Amino acid sequence: MKLKRLEMTLQRITGFSRPRAALEQYQTPAPLAARLLYHALMKGDIEGKVVCDLGSGTGVLAIGAALIGAGAVKGVDSDPKAVEIAQANAALLDAGVEFIVADVQDAALSGILGSCDTVIMNPPFGAQKAHADRPFIDLALSIAPVTYSIFNAGSTQFIKTYTAGRAEIDERVGGVFPIKRTFSFHTQDVQEIEVEILRLIRKQ
Ligand code: SAH
Repeated sequence: MKLKRLEMTLQRITGFSRPRAALEQYQTPAPLAARLLYHALMKGDIEGKVVCDLGSGTGVLAIGAALIGAGAVKGVDSDPKAVEIAQANAALLDAGVEFIVADVQDAALSGILGSCDTVIMNPPFGAQKAHADRPFIDLALSIAPVTYSIFNAGSTQFIKTYTAGRAEIDERVGGVFPIKRTFSFHTQDVQEIEVEILRLIRKQ
């Protein structure tokens, strides 16, 4: 599937019915999701691989990975309602994804997921709850040798420090994340947040 086609297909995904601010439920827009996925595909990190999406929300990243040839895809989210929507989206787009309701902080989760080849994720940026992204990074590094994650632009130094000795950032791809007015504390109809996609390689 070509990039443009992937993007168009991912536009059909149904979003959060009632997004929850505390969980930072912002669906990755199709162009940004397609960019992350295509980039990972070109790096050889998707085709035939076991791909895990942490904080899978309504499923855009997990479903996209399945559509471009992942061998198996697992998505995890703590919100059962989001998982329900993700399952309906996967059925609509005929994508084979196993969605699991679980909190990334659950110590048993890495055993349940088993090892993955590649993690793809758009974790909470920690805007509502400081350091909410840390358990996502920790779990990603414990289950997969390669992780693609979306962060606020300017996070690279923090991520570098936080993962020192455990991983290396070997690539940074910039992008924008248009956020539509979703929560009462949003003051604009659409706000463009600058983001970066980092590729983390786990140290042996
Ligand atoms: N990956 C999706 C959703 C991103 S929003 C996308 O790209 O569109 C972040 C997601 O993380 C939300 O769906 C939220 O429910 C989930 N989340 C937040 N905290 C979590 C936790 N501790 N464990 C598992 N999922 C969590």
